[in-house]
Amino acid sequence: MKVPLIMTPGPTQVRENVRMARAIVTTNPDLDLQFYEFYKETCDEIGKFLKTKNEVRILSGEGILGLEAACASLTENGDRVLVIDNGIFGEGFADFVKMYGGEVVFFKGDRKRKIDVIELEKFLEKDHNFKYATIVHCDTPSGVLNDIEKICKMLKKKGILTVVDSVAGMGGEDIRVDEWAIDIALGASQKCVSAPAGLTFLSISDEAFRVMQQRKKPIASYYCNLLIWKDYYEKKWCPYTPPISDILGLRQAFDNLLIDKDILERHNSIGRATRKAVKEAGLNLYIEEGYSNTVTVIEIPVGINCKELLKNMVDEFNVFIAGSFGYLEGKVIRIGHMGENAKKDKMVYTLLALQTSLKSLGFECGRGMVEVFLDEL
Ligand SMILES: *Cc1c(COP(=O)(O)O)cnc(C)c1O
Repeated sequence: MKVPLIMTPGPTQVRENVRMARAIVTTNPDLDLQFYEFYKETCDEIGKFLKTKNEVRILSGEGILGLEAACASLTENGDRVLVIDNGIFGEGFADFVKMYGGEVVFFKGDRKRKIDVIELEKFLEKDHNFKYATIVHCDTPSGVLNDIEKICKMLKKKGILTVVDSVAGMGGEDIRVDEWAIDIALGASQKCVSAPAGLTFLSISDEAFRVMQQRKKPIASYYCNLLIWKDYYEKKWCPYTPPISDILGLRQAFDNLLIDKDILERHNSIGRATRKAVKEAGLNLYIEEGYSNTVTVIEIPVGINCKELLKNMVDEFNVFIAGSFGYLEGKVIRIGHMGENAKKDKMVYTLLALQTSLKSLGFECGRGMVEVFLDEL
């Protein structure tokens, strides 16, 4: 199999030391007490990265499991839940809320802009009787970044628990769980964290745990039940066999993140330079305001076919960028410059491949994307 350069907004490139960590000889994680120490240390390391004292859980499943587990564990029949929606993942939370018996109330924002905090404040003045609210940090299909600091602090003042999907934000955009009052912050292995897909992790506040424990009816799930891990460490008992090799890889990926002191600055400059290169080339960015530095979403020029463009990049340059889905399918392309992808050399190659592919399909860029990118970096 030839190895492509994957410049998609997840999964991202995996560094060699993460791949090697997944190949280490493993023990029986249910029986070997060393594993409990290792798992706990890894959770604590994730907590440190998220700037929280809250407990962290790593669940055996891809990012979507984290979204479902948060909703399954918090929602009881008839609970009113505020779903803050300015994108596909934002809206998608409603499905999980309903699935577990909750009553969804939407706050809908402009899909080309970050959530308007003043509008949200006005809305909450009229109605703030919600058990919890959901919000997406970076809504990846459009690349919009929400101001979760302001939003979560505001929700919390109204007594609403906060659930944040930062799968495509954390690691490339700042997140401070305790300072910003985030009750459940969830992420996944395959975006900025740059480990292969397969794990999700959540930080859970004491208040969120209390709400789960005081439910009238038990959580209607096993895999999505955030309480089943409650005393795993004290009892040295796992509810199911943890995927030890995946967790070894995840630990190495977080070791990499924690020593990388320039990581946010690097995402910031790569994001900014990419947007500038795209605009000067004569292409349009999809979002009007609230750009995430982890992904750039570009409108496909008139006359260019999305599938042909992506195919050309793979066939001629061996580089994958992504289209999008839902209402954006066929309309935009996305470059994921997150985690291991947020590197100058990879971006230069990707932009050159994009520009050359566009040209071969009939779109001539106004200015060279690589030149603008490097100037701006
Ligand atoms: C990637 C992602 C997830 C996980 O979903 P997959 O599409 O299955 O990878 C969840 N939320 C956001 C915002 C994501 O970007």
